Amino acid sequence: MEVSPSLYFDGPGVRRVVVPNSILEELEQECRWECIAILLGTRVGGEYRVQEARRIEGTYVHGVFKINFRDWAGAIQGARLKGLEYIGLIHFHANSPPVPSPLDARRMAECPGEVWVIKSKTGVRAWVYESELRELELVVT
Ligand SMILES: [Zn+2]
Repeated sequence: MEVSPSLYFDGPGVRRVVVPNSILEELEQECRWECIAILLGTRVGGEYRVQEARRIEGTYVHGVFKINFRDWAGAIQGARLKGLEYIGLIHFHANSPPVPSPLDARRMAECPGEVWVIKSKTGVRAWVYESELRELELVVT
């Protein structure tokens, strides 16, 4: 018997994430740098194609965004019913580069295979934690 390390992912090997610029811009305007959204779409081989982003609830306490777990899980289940896969999360770094913070990295290690897209004022990058933190090729269309 094999046991998957994660509830939500088919397996390792993701190399690239494709995100429409319209999704990035819309979130940036809505959020003013303070929100998290889940990324939904399809996976073809090693490539995730983002088709939809959905903001999830949470609370901001001392600069740390705590995700509402029920909202997160409910959004993923809702997406699956529509035939979309859960890709991961996007959030913003208003005052730091688009690199996972130590706290980000801790959460990533708890959810291997979850893609994290981080946008800052200097750019946007994508990351995944499998056996270690790894940057993915990010294509903005
Ligand atoms: Zn962060």
